Order: sequence, then structure tokens, then C-alpha cells
Amino acid sequence: MDSVCKTDEKIAADEYFNKLITSRRCNGIEVKLNETIGKGVYANSEFQEDELILKDQILVGIQHSSNKVDCLVCSFCFRFVGSIEKQIGRKLYFKNLGVSGCCDGDSSESGEDECVKYNGNEVQCGGSSSSHNTLPEGVVSSLMNGETALPYTDMFPLPSPISCHGGCQEAFYCSESCAEADWESSHSLLCTGERSESISREALGEFIKHANDTNDIFLLAAKAIAFTILRYRKMKAEHVDKKAKQSEPKQLLLLEAWKPVSIGYKRRWWDCIALPDDVDLSDEGAFRMQIKNLACTSLELLKTAIFDKECEALFSLEIYGNIIGMFELNNLDLVVASPVEDYFLYIDDLPDTEKEEAEEITRPFLDALGDEYSDCCQGTAFFPLQSCMNHSCCPNAKAFKREEDKDGQAVIIALRCISEKEEVTISYIDEELPYKERQALLADYGFSCKCSKCLEDSSSV
Ligand SMILES: [Zn+2]
Ligand SMILES: [Zn+2]
Ligand SMILES: [Zn+2]
Repeated sequence: MDSVCKTDEKIAADEYFNKLITSRRCNGIEVKLNETIGKGVYANSEFQEDELILKDQILVGIQHSSNKVDCLVCSFCFRFVGSIEKQIGRKLYFKNLGVSGCCDGDSSESGEDECVKYNGNEVQCGGSSSSHNTLPEGVVSSLMNGETALPYTDMFPLPSPISCHGGCQEAFYCSESCAEADWESSHSLLCTGERSESISREALGEFIKHANDTNDIFLLAAKAIAFTILRYRKMKAEHVDKKAKQSEPKQLLLLEAWKPVSIGYKRRWWDCIALPDDVDLSDEGAFRMQIKNLACTSLELLKTAIFDKECEALFSLEIYGNIIGMFELNNLDLVVASPVEDYFLYIDDLPDTEKEEAEEITRPFLDALGDEYSDCCQGTAFFPLQSCMNHSCCPNAKAFKREEDKDGQAVIIALRCISEKEEVTISYIDEELPYKERQALLADYGFSCKCSKCLEDSSSV
């Protein structure tokens, strides 16, 4: 559906990307649309090695449901919030719940307490947790509620978490501005609290549970739809305000509201999703049908929760499939490094006496945390400009978080000198892998790579 780029659409897309580049203040690049390879990002000026090319804000993003027990982050910008103590205490708290839930328990008692519930998600107990030391509950809760302070944590201050004003107790923010921005962007429709603007909080709860039990990509798709509805309503209100004489038809407004999402379109989810290794090729049709049915169930639940007659077009299975497909086919990992890691590294680097003193207090916590002491925030997000960057196995740029990048924004840095007019490329995969493995991984993105490295490797195979 995106193979033909009509002139009108091309002009509209050019305009959209130009605006985006200006708003991101990254004027060294431009997005070009090409009939054969689609979109690409090109340098407008020269970049030196290690120079910042682009910081791309998230359009819509989620922290993975399973990651929520590991890190407490702002629901809008994904910056860590609370304190080092709270981050550690919270993680140990959930870990302890998991351990007491299954590893020591006699399974004959009841099959039900093998998992604990958190925000409606089932948290599976790690099989290895029994090997870790567990701390008494009192110690963990005093860390969580701020009664116990660890040494040197004042060197790593984090913003205090602000609860969602909608009253859901599930979204937290690093600042009032993030709380407001999230509310306006999508959360007002997807909040389960009493101030929610959804039609049915109960249905919303069911939709969220279904997504947590199956695939949390549905939560991201719901955000994209809520984002579009709210944008549409805002544009409509502005239109009424202006009392425009030739008022634009509603459909055109909806298309306009939808542009930031639709511009990332590639293919439908059930057509493009890679076949898992454990599914036999002969079962492919059944597998894709199953995926489609899953999306259908999810969409029905979402409809009951936030349907808007004027935006009816957004609630078709076709659109839903394309939105999810877009998340599957773009390079969308959201990663924010944990300040807890920096903290323990800092302790480790202290001069001997100070280090010994500090470690006496911190070691039991580090032992109790085990190998996963520094889990980062992980999720999926759509970055409108980064998603236009094409892949190369010998890329000239990469996504890289510098010391100062503490939130979920995508940061793209030049790997070598990039000259004016050159295309900026990143690698979607581990480019050190052998040729055949690279091609297999890239096939999941729907293309076969013809970069200089691949051309060279293919001729020598
Ligand atoms: Zn924030
Ligand atoms: Zn809320
Ligand atoms: Zn290649």
C-alpha cells in the first residue's frame, strides 16, 4: 500500500518531516523520500566522528509490563524516579514476593500462588532466585519508604515521583510537565483512575489485562489510537475557534491528526511478524490466523473502552494491524540505563577506607539483588525520525546514550566522519554476525540487505 508515493502525499510528508526536524533542532539532516527504497535520512552538513546527529523524542512508547517490577520510571519520558534506595527496595520487595511465592513453597499446597500480581500483571518467579540471599521484609520496606538511607546516594539524586492526577496509581511522572503532557497525549483516555475520560474503566481494565497476558504491544497500539483521537479533538476545537469559513471535512482533519502515526506504516502485523522457531512452516497459515484473532479480541476490548464515533475509521482491524506492524518493523527499542548501576560502580571506585565502610552497608543489598542488580528500563517506542533511518551492516551512525542522556529519547551519534549529502545509516542487528545470519535476521524486517559489506560478503560466499 505504500509503494506508490503520490505527489500530494509526498509533499505532505516532506512538510511533516521538515516541521519535525525544526522542532527537534537537528538541522544537519533531512528526510528524503525515494520511490525505490522508501524513506531515508541524509546529512545536510558534515558530521565529525562521535558528533551528535539527532535526539529524537518519543511519539508513543511503553515500558514493558515485565520490566515494571525492575525499574520505577516516568511514564512519559522514562527517566528513573524516586531514589536509589527506592529503586533497590522496590526491586527486592517484588523479588521477595516471587521467592516466597514458589521457590520455597510446597507446590502441592495450591497451584495458584506460583505467581504474584503486580498492576494486573503476573510476575513469574525466576528459577534462580533461590540462590540469592533474601533480606528481612522490614529492611526492604524501610529502604522503599525512605527510612533507611544508603551511603553516597545523594550523589545520584532522582526526581520525586508524581502520581497520575487521574487517580490510577499506575502511572508516575518525573515532573508536572510530563504528567500533563502524557495526559494530553494519550493517558486521559487510557487512565483507569476516577478522572479517566474513557467510556468504561471496567472495559479498559479488561483491555489492559488482555494485553499484559498476551502481548504488551497492544498497549502501545492503544496509545497510538488514543493519541490520534485526542489530537483530532484538539484540532477540531481549534478549527471551531477560528470559525473557519470553509471548514475542513471531519475526515480530512482525522487524516491530518493521524499523520504522525500513519507515516510510520509498513505492513500488517499478521503478515509481517516473523515465524517463531518453534512453529512449523506448514502451520504458518494457522499461526498468522491466530495472531489476527488475538488482535481482533484486543481491538474489541479497546473499542468498548474508548470508542469515538467521529474517529470510527481508527477502530478497524486493518488499521489496528498496520499500527502494530509498524511497531514490529521499525527499530524501536527503548532503553534507559539504571542509575543503580552507576551507584554501585561509584562505590566500587571509592578510595579503600571509604569503600570498605560503604560496602559494609551496601554489600547485603548487592548480594540480595544478584546478577540483575542493574537492570535497565526496557520498552518499545516509536521515534518518528529515527524510524526513517535505513539499515547498513557497516553503518556510519549508531544509537548511543551519553552520560547526560537520562531519559527515553533516541540519541544518534556519528560513528565516523559523515560528509554532506551522504545517507545516515544505523544497524538494526548485530552487524558483526556472519553474512547468512545477518540476512536471516533482516528478512524479519522485510528486506534483504545490499550494503557494501553484504555485497562483498555475498560475492565471496
Ligand atoms: Zn518525565
Ligand atoms: Zn492515570
Ligand atoms: Zn548489509
